[in-house]
Amino acid sequence: MNSRRDFLQKLGVSALALHLAPLSGFASCTDDRNKAYDGPVLRVAIMGLGSYGTRVAEAMQSCTKAKLVGVISGTPSKVKDWQSKFKIPEKNCYNYENFDNIKNNPDIDAVYVITPNGLHHDQVIRVAKAGKHAICEKPMSVNAQQGQEMVDACKKANVKLLVGYRMHFEPKTLEVIRMRKAGEFGKIMFFQGQCGFKIGDPTQWRLNKQLAGGGAMMDIGIYAINGSRYMIGEEPVWVTAQETKTDTVKFKEGVDETIQFQFGFPSGAVASCLSTYNMNNLDRFFLDGEKGFAELQPSTGYGPIQGRTHKGELNQPVTTHQTVQMDEMAGIIFSNNQPVVPVNGEEAVKDLKIIDAIYLAVKTGKKVDISL
Ligand code: NDP
Repeated sequence: MNSRRDFLQKLGVSALALHLAPLSGFASCTDDRNKAYDGPVLRVAIMGLGSYGTRVAEAMQSCTKAKLVGVISGTPSKVKDWQSKFKIPEKNCYNYENFDNIKNNPDIDAVYVITPNGLHHDQVIRVAKAGKHAICEKPMSVNAQQGQEMVDACKKANVKLLVGYRMHFEPKTLEVIRMRKAGEFGKIMFFQGQCGFKIGDPTQWRLNKQLAGGGAMMDIGIYAINGSRYMIGEEPVWVTAQETKTDTVKFKEGVDETIQFQFGFPSGAVASCLSTYNMNNLDRFFLDGEKGFAELQPSTGYGPIQGRTHKGELNQPVTTHQTVQMDEMAGIIFSNNQPVVPVNGEEAVKDLKIIDAIYLAVKTGKKVDISL
C-alpha cells in the first residue's frame, strides 16, 4: 500500500485514489440493477482522459443505464487507446478545438467534463451551447460567479447540469443521512470533516492557481464542505477560517496548503473542518447529536467506505461509486429522478459560495456571514 501510495502521490493524483477498490465487480446499491433494463441509455462522451476520467470510463463498463460512447481529448494517442479499449467509433472523437461540433452528433446525449478545475466553466458552457447535457467534476468551477454562469447557460440551453458528487449515492453515507432525518441522532450539535493528503509533483496542475483555482480546498476540502451540509442537513450561515502555509515555494500565492475552517448553522449546530495538501491519513467525517453519533472513516475515498454509529457498525453494501453515479444520473436526466441529496449545478454553486467565503475569511481574519 505504501509503495502504491508513494507512486500515486508522485503522479499527483488525489488522495481519493488511496482507498482503492476494484473498478468493477461490486454490486450496486440500486435495487433494480440485476433486473433487465429496457429504458433509455445515457450515451456519454468523456472530456479529459486523465486519471479520474479513466476511472469513470472503467466503472461505466458495469453501468446498465449509461454508456461511454465518445471522447474529447487533447492527446491523440489516448484517443486511439480509448477507441480500442472502449470500442469508441471515430465519429464520436473530438478535441478541444472542434468539440462544439458535437451538436451535430445525435449519438451523444451528455458530455462528462473531467479536466482541470479552471477549465470547467468555459467547457461546460460550450457543451450547453452544443445542446448536450453536462456532467462536470467537482469543484464545478473556481468561484460562485462562474458556477452561476454555468447554471444559467445550461438553463438557457435547456440541458441538465449535474456534478460528480459520487458520495451522494454511497450506501453508508445515505444510511447516516436516513438516520439523521429519522431523528436517530437527536438534535445535531457538531460535525467534523477532515480531508487531506500530502501532494507530490510540484509541477502538476493541482498546484497551478490558474488551472486549479486554489489549492487543497478546491480539490479535497470541498468534500468536508459538501459533507458538512449533507451530514447536518442544513446550510451554514457563517464561516471562519485560518490558513497555515509551511512551504511557500510549492504552495504559491493563491494555492492553499492547509486551511482549518468552521461553520455555524441555523439550528445552532457547528462544524470544524480541515483541508490540507500536507498531511496524510485524513479522510474522516464525524457527526454528533444529542442522542448518538456517526463516524465514517474513510468517508469519501473510492471505497470501501467504513463507518459506525452509536448503534453499531454500518454494513450497507460496498459499491463502485462511479458506476452507481452514472446509472443514477441517467435516471435524473431521462426521468427527472430526485436523488436524496441533489447533484445539480445549484448544489455546486452553494459549495462554491462557501469556498469564496472561506477564502475571504482567511484573507480578512473575520467571520463571514453567508446566505445560500
Ligand atoms: P488529471 O491530470 O489526471 O487529468 C486531467 C485531464 O484533463 C488530462 O489528462 C487531460 O486529458 C485534460 N486536460 C485538458 N487541458 C489540460 C491542461 N491544461 N492541463 C492538464 N490536463 C488537461 O486530473 P484528474 O483526472 O485527477 O482530475 C480531473 C478533474 O476531476 C478535476 O476537476 C478533479 O477535481 C476531478 N476529480 C474528481 C474526483 C472524484 O472523486 N469525484 C477524483 C479525482 C479528480 P487529455 O489529455 O485527454 O486532454
